[in-house]
Amino acid sequence: MISTDLIVIGAGPGGYETALRAAQSGVGVILIEKSELGGTCLNRGCIPTKALCRAAEIADSVRESAIFGITSAPPMVDFGAVMARKNDIVAELRNGVEQLLSGVTIVRGEAIFESSSVVRVESECFTAPVILIATGSVPAQIPIPGAKYALTSDELLNIDSLPERVTIIGAGVIGLEFASILRSLGSEVTVVETAAEILPSFDTEVAKRLRMALKRRGIDIILNASVTSIAADGAVRYTLKGKEKALPAATTVMAVGRRPVIPKGLAFPLTSRGFIKVDPSTMRIPIEGNTRLYAIGDVNGLCMLAHAATAQGEVVLGLRSACAPIPSAVFTHPEAAMTGLTEQQCIEKELSYTVLSSTFQANGKARALGQTDGIVKMIVSATDGTLIGCHIVGPHASDLIAEPNFAIAHRLPAASIRSAIHPHPTLSETLISAR
Ligand code: NAD
Repeated sequence: MISTDLIVIGAGPGGYETALRAAQSGVGVILIEKSELGGTCLNRGCIPTKALCRAAEIADSVRESAIFGITSAPPMVDFGAVMARKNDIVAELRNGVEQLLSGVTIVRGEAIFESSSVVRVESECFTAPVILIATGSVPAQIPIPGAKYALTSDELLNIDSLPERVTIIGAGVIGLEFASILRSLGSEVTVVETAAEILPSFDTEVAKRLRMALKRRGIDIILNASVTSIAADGAVRYTLKGKEKALPAATTVMAVGRRPVIPKGLAFPLTSRGFIKVDPSTMRIPIEGNTRLYAIGDVNGLCMLAHAATAQGEVVLGLRSACAPIPSAVFTHPEAAMTGLTEQQCIEKELSYTVLSSTFQANGKARALGQTDGIVKMIVSATDGTLIGCHIVGPHASDLIAEPNFAIAHRLPAASIRSAIHPHPTLSETLISAR
C-alpha cells in the first residue's frame, strides 16, 4: 500500500491543475490517469476545436476578401492539413502539461475504489486522507433506433475527410461549434434541436440573434424537432408539430450533452441526473470514513466547463471560497458569451433590473473588421446598480466577456465599467456605449 497526502483521479484541467497547485505547496500528490494527460479539454474538446475554429475563420476571411478590396480564388480546404495542424497543437500542449507536472507522481492506469479510502491501479493500492475525483465526462447518446450510426464529438474530431453534408442533433455548445466550423470549411449543415431555441442555457435574445447569424451563413436550424431514428446512411427522421419529417443521408453527429465518468468500486451518492453528488460550497462528497472524498469538474455536473473544474479544485485546496460567476463562451462565427444572470433568470427570481444594450454596428473597430453582426446586453440591478449579467453575441465575445465578468465577481456597479477609460477604437467600447 502506498500512502500519500492527496490522490487525484483524472488529469483533465480540474485534476492536473489541482494536483500541480497542491504539489507546489509541498503536499504529497499522486495523480492517476488512465488515458492522455489533459483530459477532454486538451485532447477532445476546447483546444482541438479552437484549432479548427481558426482554420474555419481563415476560410471565411478568404471567402469574404473581396469586401476588403482583396481578390482571391475561393478557399481550397486541405482537410488533412487542417486536422494535422490541430493534432500538432494538441500534442505540443500535451507535452507542455507533462513537463508542467514533472514534480507530481503520475500513475498510469484506471483507478478502482477498493474502499472509500483505498484505490487500486492494477495490482498497486494507494491511500490518502483526501481523494479528489476529477474523472470528467463522455458524450451522451439518446436511445433511438440507429443511434450507433451517429458520430460523437470525439469521433468527429478524428474524421479524415470533410463531409459534404452533415446533420447535427443538438443545438447546444458542441453542436453549434461544429456546425459553424464545418459550414465555414464547406459542408452543408443542418442542426436539429428539441428545444424552442438554440443554446437553452443562454439569454434568449442572444441565442436568437446567434441563430439568425448562423442561418445567414447558410446553416439550417430546425427547432422543436424530436429525432426518432437514424438510418445506416445517416438519414434522420424526426417529428415536428406532430408531423413525421426526414433529412437526407448525411454524416450525422450526436451532440445532446455529456454523461459523467464515475470511478468503479464504490457506491457514490448521485444526483437525479446521475452525477456524483457534492456539497456545492465545498465539493465534498457526502460519504463518511477516514478519507475525505471530493469530486470536481464534469463528473459532479455543477458546471461542465474546464475553467469551472479548475476553480472547483481551488475550492478544495482552500484557495477560493466561491465558484461564481462562471463565464461561458461559444466559439461560433460570430461568437457568443455570457456571465451572471440571464434576463429570464431575473424574471424567474422576481428581481428588479434594467437592461443596457449596444450594437457592434455602431462600433468603429467592428466596422473596420467587417464584423458588425451582434449586440452587448448588460443586466443591471435596479436596487443597487450592480452589474448582474452580461450577454454578448458578436466578434471576440469570448474575450470581451472577461471585463463584465470581473465586475460581477467583485459586485461592482455597472457604471464602473463606463467610468474606466477604454482604448479607442476597440471592440471593448461596446461595453461603455451600452445605454
Ligand atoms: P448541451 O447540454 O450544451 O446541449 C445539448 C443540446 O441538445 C441542448 O440544446 C438540448 O436541448 C439538445 N437535445 C437534447 N436531446 C435532444 C434530442 N433528442 N434531439 C435534439 N436535440 C436534443 O450539450 P453539448 O453541446 O453536448 O455540450 C456538453 C457540455 O460540454 C455542455 O455542458 C457544454 O457547456 C460543454 N462544452 C462547452 C464548450 C464551451 O464552453 N465552449 C464547448 C463544448 C462543450
